Amino acid sequence: MKNYEKKELYNTEATTAIAENYRKIITGIGEDVTREGLEKTPERAAKAMQFLTHGYDLDPLEILKSALFTEDHSQMIVVKNIEVYSMCEHHMLPFFGKAHVAYIPNGKIVGLSKIPRIVDAYARRMQVQERLTDQIKDCIEEALQPLGVAVVIEAQHMCMQMRGIEKQNSFTTTSSFTGAFEKNKTRKEFISLISSKLS
Ligand SMILES: [Zn+2]
Repeated sequence: MKNYEKKELYNTEATTAIAENYRKIITGIGEDVTREGLEKTPERAAKAMQFLTHGYDLDPLEILKSALFTEDHSQMIVVKNIEVYSMCEHHMLPFFGKAHVAYIPNGKIVGLSKIPRIVDAYARRMQVQERLTDQIKDCIEEALQPLGVAVVIEAQHMCMQMRGIEKQNSFTTTSSFTGAFEKNKTRKEFISLISSKLS
């Protein structure tokens, strides 16, 4: 899990307000918030929570629009194994895994590094995996108006695993396809590309 620089994205006012609530949560579970190990935990947790939800401050559509290029290329473009870290909005526990994204251009392409950035912009919010998958697809659809978009996300949910709802190491897979990817042949090509171990 590399390639993730730690960013300090929080404001003092929000940190104070969120920390105050964490203090109540810690007390509520029967802990002593004044003991040494927990003394600074409310502030730390408040900052962490702001980082984990900093996607609200990002505009994914603008991220894509800032790097559009006119190009005749009309073959499938696949960006696979994009790391996803998100937060289940039902339990406020993490889910994480990989996203695989493809599109078939229709006169416009986007800088490749922007695809992981929009995945992150949507993932760093309170989410459900299904909506995350659709939002990524819709954003690419709107910015590029391509011949088709495909998004597959495979993720492990701590709200299932840590709470013992499902067997350990079970993955949830969601997918969303438009245009050319609704055709069996194109979708199969995409699935075989993301399943191959070329990298
Ligand atoms: Zn959950």
